[in-house]
Amino acid sequence: MTTAPTSSLPPSQPSAGSPSAGTPASATAAELISTAEQYSAHNYHPLPVVVSSAEGAWMTDVAGRRYLDMLAGYSALNFGHGNPRLLHAARAQLDRLTLTSRAFHHDRFAPFCSELAALCGMEMVLPMNTGAEAVETAVKTARKWGYRVKGVGEGRAKIVAASGNFHGRTTTVISFSTDEEARADYGPYTPGFEIVPYGDVDALEAAVDDDTVAVLLEPIQGEAGVLVPPPGYLAAVRRITRERGALFIADEIQSGLGRTGRTFACEHEDVVPDMYVLGKALGGGVVPVSAVVSSREVLGVFRPGEHGSTFGGNPLACAVGLEVIAMLRTGEYQRRAAELGEHLHRELRALVGAEVVTEVRGRGLWAGVDIAPEHGTAREVSQALMDQGVLVKDTHGQTIRIAPPLVISREDLDWALDRLRGVLGG
Ligand SMILES: *Cc1c(COP(=O)(O)O)cnc(C)c1O
Repeated sequence: MTTAPTSSLPPSQPSAGSPSAGTPASATAAELISTAEQYSAHNYHPLPVVVSSAEGAWMTDVAGRRYLDMLAGYSALNFGHGNPRLLHAARAQLDRLTLTSRAFHHDRFAPFCSELAALCGMEMVLPMNTGAEAVETAVKTARKWGYRVKGVGEGRAKIVAASGNFHGRTTTVISFSTDEEARADYGPYTPGFEIVPYGDVDALEAAVDDDTVAVLLEPIQGEAGVLVPPPGYLAAVRRITRERGALFIADEIQSGLGRTGRTFACEHEDVVPDMYVLGKALGGGVVPVSAVVSSREVLGVFRPGEHGSTFGGNPLACAVGLEVIAMLRTGEYQRRAAELGEHLHRELRALVGAEVVTEVRGRGLWAGVDIAPEHGTAREVSQALMDQGVLVKDTHGQTIRIAPPLVISREDLDWALDRLRGVLGG
């Protein structure tokens, strides 16, 4: 089990040993940031911290200052930094076999697919690498299923998605984004998508027609600010898609694999979709691993040559993914997320209305906290928290996103909550 360093160590204290051990030529944070600014495209705007090592829920920067990671790579680090079980699985595989391509079988592939299917209560798996690729795969699967199984007329397949969605960054995926920042200047866009307001059952009911092959949704919208749909919404999506013979595709890339206190966020409404799209935590914070998981009727539509990926389902990815699945099977991480999440939300709710915080949403160890504009932007709040040794991320102007690794200790969570109270008042 990962044990985080004790919370009594203030983040300003350099940890033992040379703070810059392993850092080439001891470049300072300012130098590294300015070189990155010069040589990398500016498609991100990171907080001004340069991390050089991490363990559990703690990260250390190039000057030896420690920070509590309250973002966990948007759920990619659900099991914490340097998780011993995952590192062991990765190292053992590195010494045996890393890549074959899918031209040949390898011995980690079958167990990974069968055990992931079992974890999901499904029948078949199609492994990819990044989340966006898995969403692309889900779109292609739904269309092919629509033509081959449902009998939709050539070129007419429609997929219904929700406003405020985030499903990745490829040209097709941003074609059904409603976020101008994510979309502008990337047209012409892929047709075949219709957008309905997230959480609106009537709008969905009106949009799903005979040509609809799928409804694609996040059961909780992460990027949009950790938006939890109204109670009964996911069950209504399930009912409508079943009645109209369309697939319900749950993008659980961020919400799945323990984050909300269950293996899947859909479980909170006792809903089982036709397809899970998984990513992020499936790679254990070690390698990118994503997958589409569904029934034989649906994933059975593919024949050799019709879809693929050189790295999808590679031995290293499968070995790490297998360990992630084994860890989730214990239920320990879901339990931690549920218990610590209840504590997190109780404490965050106490801040609502005090002054700075206008609303708190979320489930499990996952929260969106809205900041009143007169108290600055969420970016400014994130900076202030960074100065206190707590790393979070702003989204859409006035929301900060909190999602610590599920291995965080109660003491460290309380340490972060003290600092959140200091910055957010209450
Ligand atoms: C992160 C994310 C994606 C995209 O994953 P990438 O690995 O960044 O391509 C898709 N859907 C959801 C819900 C996500 O959170």
